[in-house]
Amino acid sequence: MSLKALKEHKLAEIIGAGLESEDKALTRLDDVKNRIGEEIFVRGWVYRKRHLNDVNFVLVRDGFGIIQSTIRKNEVDKSSWDYSEEVYIESVVKLIGTVIEDERAPEGVEIKVREFKTEFKGDPFPISKDQSTEMLLDIRHLSVRKQGIMNALKLKAQLVRSCREFLDNREFIEIQPPMLNVSACEGGSTLFEVKYFDKIAYLSQSGQLYSEAVVAAYPLVYVMAPSFRAEPSRTPRHMTEFWQLEPEMAFYNQNMNMKLQEEMIEYVCHELAKKQKSILERFKRDPKDLLAIKAPFDRITYTKAIDMLKEKGIEIKWGDGIGLDEEKILTKELSQPVFLTNQPKVLRAFYMKENPEDPRTVLDADMLAPEGIGEIIGGSERISDYNELILRMKAQNLNQKDYEWYLDIHKYGQVPHSGFGMGTERVIRWMAKLETIRDAIPFPRTMNRLYP
Ligand code: ATP
Repeated sequence: MSLKALKEHKLAEIIGAGLESEDKALTRLDDVKNRIGEEIFVRGWVYRKRHLNDVNFVLVRDGFGIIQSTIRKNEVDKSSWDYSEEVYIESVVKLIGTVIEDERAPEGVEIKVREFKTEFKGDPFPISKDQSTEMLLDIRHLSVRKQGIMNALKLKAQLVRSCREFLDNREFIEIQPPMLNVSACEGGSTLFEVKYFDKIAYLSQSGQLYSEAVVAAYPLVYVMAPSFRAEPSRTPRHMTEFWQLEPEMAFYNQNMNMKLQEEMIEYVCHELAKKQKSILERFKRDPKDLLAIKAPFDRITYTKAIDMLKEKGIEIKWGDGIGLDEEKILTKELSQPVFLTNQPKVLRAFYMKENPEDPRTVLDADMLAPEGIGEIIGGSERISDYNELILRMKAQNLNQKDYEWYLDIHKYGQVPHSGFGMGTERVIRWMAKLETIRDAIPFPRTMNRLYP
């Protein structure tokens, strides 16, 4: 039987069938508005409940949509009525009813119920309105069901899918670096130590160094994996565990690297605007903002950024770091991302190649998102010369012994190569105008949150 025939067959069985009859097609709640006049079977969780005289209004959600069902005491049997009386928020219910148009219903349609049953009543749900953010985080295993979080997770899934699509279309391959390592990629101060039998290991801060080894086997690779950083920061853009997309490319210089990044960001902005329009609108993000994102993005050198900040009255001098506050000032008025390039060598990671035009700086770029959001991507051309790498490691007091394997790859057929890391939650924070990146991950990990 074809899928269409099977669906029609199953639908035909609903008419006259009771809730206990096995063979019924389930209707998704985002499809209900297309089924006016039809009798349908739905299952889901109670989202809200209201009572008026002899009518119970039960809003049901199934992850795809939310629809109001109306149970009228004089139109259903006693058990259906009693079930609709007893349910709590988040009880699981199933029902059969006819879809009717009703302007008063939140979606303009509702289900006039013929039969209603509680499948799982559970306990009274502990989340009500006006609970504090901390309390909601304490019970994230339940608050993860909130619409705002679920919608952010859907956007993130789309972002990840679109990034993969973009890179796969360019013949990148996805690789999996180890998460248990012996050395740091992004500086020792943010390493998480774990006991590894009789040794100490560290959780991965980035897969980059391993990708640099693999690009000598195949030139275009990317990693989509968690990064662990023992960041003591309590900012809305730092977590101790976040998901990073890290492409690494052989034979790419820094200009090619930035071009790839801006083309990818343009692509994913347009994909999200086209495929997740209604979710973006719920976050008060006009999809047109994302459709307007257009490569190439402006490039501002660090030196120029320092001058711009000084002009705005900020006390800062060449050599100081540009952090969250400064990035906010630089991007507040922008509607397109911008690259902040050529930062001072002493502030940057040991693997970043020196800028031949100004050896005080490196060939790096952070992509700053507009609207005051700031860094979403950090990237650079990597050092490919063995001796330059040794000198830089010495300058940064790194123990060469911990990096022997990494140094080794610079002895055998090393080529110019570049790459970048994009924090997926930071991108979603920008696109969905989230106050904090914690809402772009189901179970955030921060300095003071390891539970649930
Ligand atoms: P920042 O200066 O904002 O702390 P960083 O320079 O340490 O970031 P990179 O090491 O370049 O960041 O990491 C690449 C990307 O990973 C960043 O551009 C950002 O999007 C994301 N990222 C870095 N640290 C965090 C974090 N603690 N939580 C969430 N995302 C992060």
